[in-house]
Amino acid sequence: MQFHLDTAEIFVPDNLSVEQALARTTHVTISAHQDDIEIMAAQPIMECFQQKEKWFSGVVVTDGRGSPRDGLYKDYTDEEMRLVRFKEQRKAAVVGEYAAQVLLDFPSRIVKDFSNSAPVDDIAALLKSMRPQIVYTHNLADKHDTHVAVALRTIAAIRSLPVSERPQKLFGCEVWRALDWMQDADKVSMNV
Ligand SMILES: [Zn+2]
Repeated sequence: MQFHLDTAEIFVPDNLSVEQALARTTHVTISAHQDDIEIMAAQPIMECFQQKEKWFSGVVVTDGRGSPRDGLYKDYTDEEMRLVRFKEQRKAAVVGEYAAQVLLDFPSRIVKDFSNSAPVDDIAALLKSMRPQIVYTHNLADKHDTHVAVALRTIAAIRSLPVSERPQKLFGCEVWRALDWMQDADKVSMNV
């Protein structure tokens, strides 16, 4: 699979071919940053764990260069931080037995630049290879701009697919903030 950036990667924990690894995906989470996935989508990760018919994949859209850092990482450069975050995401994929972990490596400013369609193209290409049943991403009322941008890119990618190839469900995940403003009928609580 060819992405816009040569530095993007697909990590397959059990060394299956990339094509097969993507194709087995039933649940996919598309997040802005490393570790967003494990926080907002712990439920599908556990739902797919050790299941023969259900496979979880993660897609991280940004490069992790802007990660906040202190303590152990306080003197790390952006590039060193990027490598740390790639490594921790691969470890999560091993522990969670993901079908695949994709790192698209876009700078945040590209994800938020809607004149640039590269993130939508890459996400659409992945969805075509995966044909997942359920997609999880950030919600459109998230307080972080990059999270909202990833949700919008994901929706654009899904809408670029023929109706018959779209996932059955799309969830916009909220973790930190209350959803009191939302109608109960529109809310799905995750059992974690
Ligand atoms: Zn994030």
